Amino acid sequence: MWPSRDNRGGASVTCIACGKSLPRNDAREYDKHGDRWERRGKEFEFLCKPCDRSLCHQPRDDLEALLLDAEAGESDRDTFFERYADLVEDRYGPLEEQ
Ligand SMILES: [Zn+2]
Repeated sequence: MWPSRDNRGGASVTCIACGKSLPRNDAREYDKHGDRWERRGKEFEFLCKPCDRSLCHQPRDDLEALLLDAEAGESDRDTFFERYADLVEDRYGPLEEQ
């Protein structure tokens, strides 16, 4: 889609689930409105591939509620991640035991 040279020295994005920085081209767009094709006036959020994969195992509605509860995009990253981890653990149990 994008020439790879355009990716140098620039565009990196942050995964909203784990807070990792990654090149934009390696990230999955996450649109909280669930419509990736309507791009006008929108700012996309991003997930890294591991998070995208693990989140996709859960029902979409659940993920949306989870992200909203954790105030995705509204809290700073540490606060969000803490809340997110707590919420996931509340709902699904400790991650490392699954
Ligand atoms: Zn991630």
